[in-house]
Amino acid sequence: MLSNGSPAPAVVAAADVARWPHPWAGDSAVSLGRWSNAIEQAEAAAATLLAKKGELSPYLPVPSFWSEQYGVRFRSVGIPALGDEAEVVESDSIARRLAVVYYRRGNMVGVLTANRTSRIAGYQRRPAAELAAGIG
Ligand SMILES: Cc1cc2nc3c(=O)[nH]c(=O)nc-3n(C[C@H](O)[C@H](O)[C@H](O)COP(=O)(O)OP(=O)(O)OC[C@H]3O[C@@H](n4cnc5c(N)ncnc54)[C@H](O)[C@@H]3O)c2cc1C
Repeated sequence: MLSNGSPAPAVVAAADVARWPHPWAGDSAVSLGRWSNAIEQAEAAAATLLAKKGELSPYLPVPSFWSEQYGVRFRSVGIPALGDEAEVVESDSIARRLAVVYYRRGNMVGVLTANRTSRIAGYQRRPAAELAAGIG
């Protein structure tokens, strides 16, 4: 990105060093410090370098990550940090389970779960579908 926030022309970058426009982020740029993004964005960067003029497509991932902390398995899809509203759809402190859905201007942009790995696939489809439909 240039200092004014616009994409730098003819520059290809991938992984932690990269920031790029994303429809969910409005005028801001997105940066994702995650392994999955490092892999997917490197593939997109290579495809960009190899593409013929007019064949370029935007990089619009629905990112995900998992982590295990103190016996709790966390999963995230989308970009929860972009949400302006959070809805707790499941919370069980005894079972140590949690599911929170994040919305931005009413559109789902991310989900964070704890010990609810089986549910994440269902949640993942919706931000992907909204992104594909061009809702930002
Ligand atoms: C403590 C920690 C925990 C993390 N846990 C998770 C996690 O659970 N899940 C997840 O999805 N992501 C996690 N991440 C983030 C993830 O590691 C990064 O998003 C990902 O590694 C970024 O890839 P990258 O290629 O940008 O950078 P890196 O993986 O850091 O690779 C950069 C490489 O460049 C090399 N390098 C640096 N300078 C030079 C130089 N001058 N010349 C030559 N080589 C150089 C470095 O040695 C390094 O090998 C974690 C990060 C940290 C720091």
